[in-house]
Amino acid sequence: MSGYDDLAQHIGELNDVLNAISILKWDQRTQMPSGGARTRGNQLATLSRIAQEMFIGTTTARLLETAEAEVAGEPSESYRVRSVAQTRQYYEIVRRIPMQVIADMAALSPESQLVWERAKKTDDFALFAPYLQRMLDFNKALADAVGYSDHPYDGLVFEYEPSMTASKLKVLFADLRAGLIPLLGRIVANDTPLPVDLWRHTYDIPKQKAFALEVAQQFGYDLQRGRLDIAPHPFEVSFTREDVRITTRYSDHYLPMALFGSLHETGHALYEQGVDPALTRSALTTDFLGQYAVGGTSYGAHESQSRLWENQIGRSRAFWVQHFPRLHEYFPEQLAEADDELFYRAVNRVQPSLIRVEADEVTYNLHIMLRVEIEMGLLDGTFQVSELPEVWRSKMQEYVGVAPTTDSNGVLQDVHWSGGGFGSFPGYTVGNVMSAQLLAAAHRDVPDLDNALAGADYAPLLSWLTENVYRHGRAYSASELLQRTTGQDLTVGPYMTYLTEKFADLYAFTI
Ligand code: ZN
Repeated sequence: MSGYDDLAQHIGELNDVLNAISILKWDQRTQMPSGGARTRGNQLATLSRIAQEMFIGTTTARLLETAEAEVAGEPSESYRVRSVAQTRQYYEIVRRIPMQVIADMAALSPESQLVWERAKKTDDFALFAPYLQRMLDFNKALADAVGYSDHPYDGLVFEYEPSMTASKLKVLFADLRAGLIPLLGRIVANDTPLPVDLWRHTYDIPKQKAFALEVAQQFGYDLQRGRLDIAPHPFEVSFTREDVRITTRYSDHYLPMALFGSLHETGHALYEQGVDPALTRSALTTDFLGQYAVGGTSYGAHESQSRLWENQIGRSRAFWVQHFPRLHEYFPEQLAEADDELFYRAVNRVQPSLIRVEADEVTYNLHIMLRVEIEMGLLDGTFQVSELPEVWRSKMQEYVGVAPTTDSNGVLQDVHWSGGGFGSFPGYTVGNVMSAQLLAAAHRDVPDLDNALAGADYAPLLSWLTENVYRHGRAYSASELLQRTTGQDLTVGPYMTYLTEKFADLYAFTI
């Protein structure tokens, strides 16, 4: 054994414990009877404490020092060097995180979520406000402890998006706003209702599942190392690349919910299944902060893959030309009035709405921008908690063009803040923007990619993504992955081009 191997063995065991925690969480969200909640909480707390002790104990410190000495002088981009450096980086960060704050937050969370649910049901923001204030105070304390140089948000967003900062986010959203708001205006001006409502029919759920799984497998999802279950709040989770699970939820009528939900989670799963086998149980597939972006390098990088497969592929005309006939075989009566073109239009209709999770591709990032501005504003004192309902209404009107009449459909709609989570929202938009940059790079590198996609041959795209993104696990940051593949950092150009071309065509206006 060497210093490096000893460290790798230690991290491998930590990785085992973290994956056991993830399996318990998967079970909790898909299978567990509600009566199991309390003891499951105990089990998770115990295993989390064990993981914590394994990671920040003196063993890690000792092994890190010898491993650092051993890899010194090796190429800076090698997995060995990256692995040791990342272990060191997170070792220092996790040691700075005040455990009392985490414990207090975890203790408040169940009650806070319960109160949030009640407040949402009764449209009573004042009921939830004191809990939001306490969660905000915890997050301020966390940001201070982790440290930041410019904006407290930097100390929080780091957990989800290590290469992102408040100042970079402000530029990103300003660029998006400049493109999205005029684009939305032209779409709304040209909107006409579709001739038929396809979602008034009933769609058999086992058939919905069968179709989604067929497509997922055509994309490349390996069911020998995966499975699809039902969850009220869908997610993907992996316990190493050998066991990568997805979940979805079904509506009897609204076919797109489970279908695009499944394709979204399939994109996450392809990322996890595509990680280099050599990185299994290594620091480069270990989520030291327990944030679920397990094998992937960040929330945004992960979301770039879910959105690429769900939207840029799954909501494309080429996709529906190929796959509509098969869907029609499953639902001949329900889709009797439709053809591929009508279906394509139906799943791409842009409708400014109040609810983020129902938003289309054009308005989605505006919903995210609003939340990120509020999170930053709360942290730096621009906004007070009590002002949020009004801030929400005026920003919704300004960005999306509609404003809620209730707080239930406004500031109370998302679960995130009630559990104390601040800083995860930017990942959704980073993912959208990144997905277009990566797909543009794939088009540049892969000859005839359009032809392959038009023939429902997804292997060339999957192999480019695997080679350039998936196999590296967490070895490179989102920013480095972009630099390596596109020569640029995150930039909105390719994403705005994608949206503008697609929706100018759908809504018949010239650019
Ligand atoms: Zn996702």
